[in-house]
Amino acid sequence: MYKIMWLFLLVGLTFLFSEEMKPWITKLNSLSTFEKHVLVDKGTERAFSGEYVNTKENGTYVCKVCGAALYKSDDKFDSHCGWPSFDDAIPGAIKEITDADGSRTEITCANCGAHMGHVFKGEGLTTKNVRHCVNSVSLEFQKKTTADPQLKKAYFAGGCFWGVEYYLEKMAGVKEVTSGFMGGEVANPSYEEVVGHGTGHLETVEVVYDASIVSYETLAKAFFEIHDPTQRDGQGPDIGSQYLSAVFVSSPKERETIEKLISILEKNGLHIATKVLPAAPFYKAEGYHQDYYERKGSVPYCHRRVKRF
Ligand SMILES: [Zn+2]
Repeated sequence: MYKIMWLFLLVGLTFLFSEEMKPWITKLNSLSTFEKHVLVDKGTERAFSGEYVNTKENGTYVCKVCGAALYKSDDKFDSHCGWPSFDDAIPGAIKEITDADGSRTEITCANCGAHMGHVFKGEGLTTKNVRHCVNSVSLEFQKKTTADPQLKKAYFAGGCFWGVEYYLEKMAGVKEVTSGFMGGEVANPSYEEVVGHGTGHLETVEVVYDASIVSYETLAKAFFEIHDPTQRDGQGPDIGSQYLSAVFVSSPKERETIEKLISILEKNGLHIATKVLPAAPFYKAEGYHQDYYERKGSVPYCHRRVKRF
């Protein structure tokens, strides 16, 4: 009799203790039948059926039950096996348990014990040689919230600004590209004045970009690839001093980056005509020059992308 009472007390205490210590108990109770089948009863979802099989977004995969961070999107890879695959876990987040028959190794959330899937080693799929094969239903994805945008400006002249603007505007991290003029003698030149060769300005774009997403170097590489940096008298069919190739730099670091890229291109046998000039006042061109190709619904005649790096 005493023994039975003692047992009831013990079970009751354990239960209370768990409720207090494991806030995810409520979550556990709210799981769907299928989620319980996988997370609690160690079931497996059908191959290629889960919502995270092909996801590539930047972020963290957390445990569906307790919310612990388990995997980073950087470690996710295409294994073509039908389940989300990672070649590494967040340190300490995953527990490995060899199956009773010793054939496979189960992986669970180290925090709450929820079933994730299995881990396979030595398949040679990635350099880490590990595949965490995880049920999508065991995970929840938390998209990386972008850090505060670090807006910066860059200035490129590569011939007719319509084409340069068209291509740079399509890059990730680029907020805005404005067509205008830089490097001349007079303030606020009109397009006619610049075309008349009287002012010394170059058709230039101002690129406003988020440095937390795209680097200056990436932008500069794109610039060298969307125009011909070897042409000395203009760009494509547009001949004249306002169409010359130049980068207007605002810091020694930008200059260093551009000079480095030019030396790479020269080593590859190109004779680069691009000038590296100090940034000067930027004058926005008339409204009808902005987003020219987007508004016309056409593509540039003067620029195209050629891989050079
Ligand atoms: Zn968990």
